[in-house]
Amino acid sequence: MALVPELVPRLTEAGLEVAVQSGAGELAGFFDDGYAAKGARLEAEVLDKADILLKVQPPTIEEISHMKEDSVLICFLQPYTNATAIRALAARQITAFSMELMPRITRAQPMDALSAMSTVAGYKAVLVAASRLPRFFPLLMTAAGTVTPARVFVIGAGVAGLQAIGTAKRLGAVVEAYDTRPAVKEQVESLGAKFAELGLAAKDAEDKSGYAKAQSEDFYQKQQEMMSKYVASADVVIPTALVPGQRAPILITEEMVRGMRPGSVILDLAAEQGGNCALTEPGREIVRHGVVIIGPMNLPSTIPFQASEMYARTVTNYLAHLLKDGGLHLDLEDELTRGPLVTHRGEVVHEIVKARLCSENSTP
Ligand code: NAD
Repeated sequence: MALVPELVPRLTEAGLEVAVQSGAGELAGFFDDGYAAKGARLEAEVLDKADILLKVQPPTIEEISHMKEDSVLICFLQPYTNATAIRALAARQITAFSMELMPRITRAQPMDALSAMSTVAGYKAVLVAASRLPRFFPLLMTAAGTVTPARVFVIGAGVAGLQAIGTAKRLGAVVEAYDTRPAVKEQVESLGAKFAELGLAAKDAEDKSGYAKAQSEDFYQKQQEMMSKYVASADVVIPTALVPGQRAPILITEEMVRGMRPGSVILDLAAEQGGNCALTEPGREIVRHGVVIIGPMNLPSTIPFQASEMYARTVTNYLAHLLKDGGLHLDLEDELTRGPLVTHRGEVVHEIVKARLCSENSTP
């Protein structure tokens, strides 16, 4: 849910009327009477009434056709892969903000929905992998013998990766991790995990926002070679490596999967961006060469209560930033307003998204 009951008063106190689609929060544990008690109106349909629409997933073309012209939309828009919807939003004169495009500046931290969802995904990834593994995670000394701890290898130690490392440590596993950004080593070690020294120096590892930059094919090939022994000795591998706006790099080849012990688990957190493992099938759990390979789509939705609370806070914080004196005030000079803005006044205004659409148009 993009709004939870406790946040309704924040919007009404700012001068807005709040309408919630009846029943929309039920599966996440937020019921109609909870919204009503906080001052929201329940409606069977909200798309055609909202001046400002808060949503989780991008609207479908059908939904866009029901939305009010000149309205404002705030949601995850999947801006790099959602060309048809983005064109439709522009054509309907909708001002659409994409939560994925929030700039990484200190002011924007309370609005950082991607980081919030990565926290949820990193935690749940470990629980899912642990439940599929035919072994314990912790070291156990019992009368029936000693159980050795599971080994977990995390590739990519950003927000999701660090959360996965912390969760796997708390469950008692021995954890190793690697990231191309050198700054990460200290964070990995502070969680009690070992940083895998691959002897590789990534060129220009990160951009000014702290995101990883893409590396050459040659680099990725060397990385695969150097990581082989870490992957082979792990019981669970959790790859999370992403480069914004691009397909996730392939870091685990079929050969590397073949080198793993049967019963091991790969939980590919990069599945939504194509996957870090060559064999990952996004949205499916498969077994190849005796290894369970899971490619979850939208793990945060499996912890819907707190994922909704966290997402709703980021969205509400962002909406509060856009409001002034009970109305919307779009200062397009402000990078916090401008950064996530994708469509406005009938145009696609985000430079990178626009460039993608143009290059698609020119592809024969
Ligand atoms: P992300 O989800 O885009 O990527 C996940 C991780 O994959 C990153 O750590 C990246 O370096 C890593 N990666 C990419 N290619 C790799 C490869 N070939 N091998 C191994 N790892 C690879 O990133 P994220 O988790 O959203 O954020 C990354 C960092 O940005 C965070 O750790 C944090 O330091 C910073 N950050 C800053 C702000 C802010 O300033 N507001 C907010 C959130 C995150």
